[in-house]
Amino acid sequence: MHELSIVTHVAKTLDELAQESNLAKIGSVTLEVGEVSGIITDYFIDCWNYFKVKDPLIKDAELKLEQIKAITFCEDCSNEYETVRYGRICPYCQSEHTYLLQGNECIIKEIEAEEKTDMD
Ligand SMILES: [Zn+2]
Repeated sequence: MHELSIVTHVAKTLDELAQESNLAKIGSVTLEVGEVSGIITDYFIDCWNYFKVKDPLIKDAELKLEQIKAITFCEDCSNEYETVRYGRICPYCQSEHTYLLQGNECIIKEIEAEEKTDMD
């Protein structure tokens, strides 16, 4: 369900972008997906493939996923460390005063698109 709602959101964003920029068709979409975003890549691609056939704009669009590494910042010692490896506790000072710097996002990084022409 999580993946499908993100796919829906991405498709909606692309639709809006296409209207603003007068795009006829989107060839590929590159998404940056955080390591701890909870998105399961295979399932996400399944959702995308299921969803895109219903939308002429993205019907032939290729989905490319790039992973963003999760990094946590420690407020007590100002170190950064790998979230997946160490979790919430800072490996340098054992503090619990930490927060996620990156790794929870799902961002449209770039798209390749064809613009509408007067010929169409
Ligand atoms: Zn620390």
